[in-house]
Amino acid sequence: LPEGVERRRVLLKLSGEVFGGGSVGVDPATVRGIAEQIAAVGGKVEVSVVVGGGNFFRGAELSKAGMDRARADYMGMLGTVMNCLALQDFLEQAGQPTRVQTAITMGQVAESYIPLRAIRHMEKGRVVVFGAGAGMPYFSTDTVCAQRALEVGADMVLMAKSGVDGVYTSDPKTNDDAEKLDHLTYTDALRRNIRVMDQTAMTMCNDNELPMRVFGMEGEGNVTRALLGDEIGTLVTT
Ligand code: UDP
Repeated sequence: LPEGVERRRVLLKLSGEVFGGGSVGVDPATVRGIAEQIAAVGGKVEVSVVVGGGNFFRGAELSKAGMDRARADYMGMLGTVMNCLALQDFLEQAGQPTRVQTAITMGQVAESYIPLRAIRHMEKGRVVVFGAGAGMPYFSTDTVCAQRALEVGADMVLMAKSGVDGVYTSDPKTNDDAEKLDHLTYTDALRRNIRVMDQTAMTMCNDNELPMRVFGMEGEGNVTRALLGDEIGTLVTT
């Protein structure tokens, strides 16, 4: 890059269901495919990733089944770390240097979350994968996504969705009249109860004027395209 020209910096959210390929655990072929798409960006954009854990455990579900909520949430957070390691492995195999940083300290497995260090990694062309959520029960990885994006100075959040390619006026699976939106505001999304990410996360993005693009994982090369700034899916802004 010429001196003085800064690269875009983005934060990609991959939910747990993406890793499981639809079932519990990690589907290596699926993760490899995503990793190759991230690696294909080839340093043109600074990339960080927040990884969900719903393919292993969701605290709220375990708690409904009788577990203590906070302990169940910690199980949920630990699940995200397994996804991070799988993603790191396939990113490295695809030639993309990667660091995992976790919000719960586990030195043998990953670095601790150190924001300035995460920024430095990205400046050096490494992908940074954030695991273990916020390290705090009662939070979601969506909220962490907004928080990490703000703290490391990302220009935009990219929400990868499976099974849907953007935000619709109503649920396209049950309603034939549902229309895809190119753009909407967080206020609209909150008022119309559109759950592209949870409300805490949307409020945080809205208050801090952090834009988000919601896009579908399914199209060929969609993850690479979203990372490179293609206007696919739906843009959500303040
Ligand atoms: N979790 C938490 N605090 C956080 C992030 C996650 O307690 O900061 C727990 C929570 O139990 C959640 C689980 O980890 O259900 C998995 O995360 P999430 O449901 O956000 O993953 P996703 O839906 O994106 O797969």
